[in-house]
Amino acid sequence: MTIEELIKTQPHSLSRRAYDFAFKVHRGQKRLSGEPYFNHVVGTAQSLLDWRLDEVSIAAGLLHDVVEDSDYTIEDLQKEFGDEVAFLVDGVTKLGRLKYRGAERQVESLRKMILALSQDLRVVLIKLADRLYNMRTLDALPPHKQKRIALETSEIYAPLAYRLGMQRLSGELQDLAFPYLYPQEHTWLREQVKNRYHIREAYLRRIAPKVEEALKEASIDILNIDFRAKRYSSLYKKLLRYEMDVDKIHDLIAFRIVVTSLPDCYNALGIIHQLFPPVPGRIKDYIALPKPNGYQSIHTTVFGPEQRAIEFQIRTQEMHDEAENGIAAHWAYEQTKGTGAYVKRTSSFADMNDITWVHQLRSWQEKFADSEEFIESLKVDFFKDRIFCLTPQGEVVDLPLGSTPVDFAYQIHSEIGNQCVGARVNQKFVPLDYELSSSDVVEIAIQKNKKPSVSWLNFVKTSNARDHIRAVLRSSRSQNGLLRQAARESELRLTVYDRPGLLRDIVETISRSHVNVLSVTTNPISKSRLQLFKIKCNTVNKEKLQKLLLKLKGTKEVKETSYLLS
Ligand code: MN
Repeated sequence: MTIEELIKTQPHSLSRRAYDFAFKVHRGQKRLSGEPYFNHVVGTAQSLLDWRLDEVSIAAGLLHDVVEDSDYTIEDLQKEFGDEVAFLVDGVTKLGRLKYRGAERQVESLRKMILALSQDLRVVLIKLADRLYNMRTLDALPPHKQKRIALETSEIYAPLAYRLGMQRLSGELQDLAFPYLYPQEHTWLREQVKNRYHIREAYLRRIAPKVEEALKEASIDILNIDFRAKRYSSLYKKLLRYEMDVDKIHDLIAFRIVVTSLPDCYNALGIIHQLFPPVPGRIKDYIALPKPNGYQSIHTTVFGPEQRAIEFQIRTQEMHDEAENGIAAHWAYEQTKGTGAYVKRTSSFADMNDITWVHQLRSWQEKFADSEEFIESLKVDFFKDRIFCLTPQGEVVDLPLGSTPVDFAYQIHSEIGNQCVGARVNQKFVPLDYELSSSDVVEIAIQKNKKPSVSWLNFVKTSNARDHIRAVLRSSRSQNGLLRQAARESELRLTVYDRPGLLRDIVETISRSHVNVLSVTTNPISKSRLQLFKIKCNTVNKEKLQKLLLKLKGTKEVKETSYLLS
């Protein structure tokens, strides 16, 4: 069913209203390819419909770029479409801010963060549908963006889809990314397999009737029998293990047989082995031992006519659906047969407010309780005691709940921690003991040669920060014999229009005058855009301070300057 068919059959439905709303909002907007923006949101919603997600998700899929690309706010969507749709759109918008720039150590944190931030797996699914559409139309973007997005897709989103058991999606994303990441290898591979695919397929077509007949004779109900060509991306990975020799790959094209019952999977295996002798050691029973992501199927390779190897994959319809759509299949909504009407399955989670996605995941996870890798891949998301913050460059920093900018600074680098003098969170100045939350963008201002303050030990949460602070304090104590009492202080008062980078500029200017910053506090001045920065410094030298103020006055957006001596 297409989105257009869906809204036609239900003219007053939520999805219909979302469709009309999105159409209005995106009217006139074009993508780089020149196609109407609206196509993108319909395409995204189409995938969600294909995965048989609930109507709320489909509506959210249609509306997912409204907040990003128009003046409408989340509150507007909430009024118009309700809390659930607004929640999902908000989640997708937040995920849109995460960027992967190819740092190895980022991969796992970013995948975790995506799941943790989403709170509801439908958010991830909408994001995946969005990414799928963008990958299909990646050609229109400039090359450097193609590379970045393809890399992010291959390293973050495709593996995420795989872990959610959405094998087909994961494979498609990898295949779409492959030519952008490895253009030469892709061209080479296409050349290699071009003829082989045709020859293989013709060969399997000749054999298919024989297989079908034998299975029917044994009273095995076949729901479907077809061929599946191995994806380029996974073929390439396999070739790396087989000396790049395509002739060594037996599952270039494999038979896929879908039967009605579990016993029939094994019966079919027996029949096929009677028909053709199996290749020793090539029977894989993923029904008895599912793959970590839940994949179930029996695979076997046999010697076909002319001694050529053929791979068979045998499974039930249920296993097939799950292999294709994974977690989405679990929560799929059924379309009532015949009428084409779109009906929610009552067992689904969307209506059960008391059941969070975490519980859903857990019950899904229990099915594969003995699979360590699978549990590893999911349990991080049950960490209620972790938060994920971002650097202004979009790098993820993984911290315990209750962490402060000082913890964040030490997590990036011990020197950043030691020299930390101020912090901005989501572009607002905050005190150093401010409690961070997930998805905060944290910017740390540092001053060269600054030493950590003993008072930080009262609020830092990470042992990393605590250990470093103690170490520095210990070494300066041994240098000075005693922990120095704070020297007499002065306080600079600056009235400013805040802007990105302002604090950094100010602190740099102060540093260049060989004055140390002890602390920074900022207060908005009521009824104006102005802010008052109070900066404690370790000098009481009036001449020095006056010169410094003159320099600071020359800084862009600094309006007034003065100082106090304590
Ligand atoms: Mn989008």
